[in-house]
Amino acid sequence: MATIFEKIINKEIPSEILYEDDLVIAIKDKFPKAPIHLLIISKKVIPSFQKIEKEDLPIIGRMIEIAQKLAKDFKIEKGYRLLTNVGAPSGQTIFHLHFHLLGGRDLLEMG
Ligand code: 5GP
Repeated sequence: MATIFEKIINKEIPSEILYEDDLVIAIKDKFPKAPIHLLIISKKVIPSFQKIEKEDLPIIGRMIEIAQKLAKDFKIEKGYRLLTNVGAPSGQTIFHLHFHLLGGRDLLEMG
């Protein structure tokens, strides 16, 4: 069954798209946990970070580039958190690879 992110990639459900190319899409998180909470999502269906294969590394490289670009665009390049939950025990809820880019306030308060 398609995840929410596949539906967003296929434009079947709306989202605020910040960046898109052949490999990745970046959107605003619908339920932000920080003033700036963005999601950098692979277009390829990779269920989690743990399932990345060697052939996927160009995608990961692009995701890193876009995280850096968005951190600059949102003026948080001096301090932010880039994270990915791996598996349900970590809190992963959507099983399609994505990085959270969080910033905009003192992240130390988040724990
Ligand atoms: P995970 O829990 O898998 O690490 O992260 C999934 C993220 O997707 C959560 O931060 C959640 O708020 C966000 N999310 C869930 N549904 C939607 C949606 O329909 N649109 C957007 N933009 N974000 C969503």
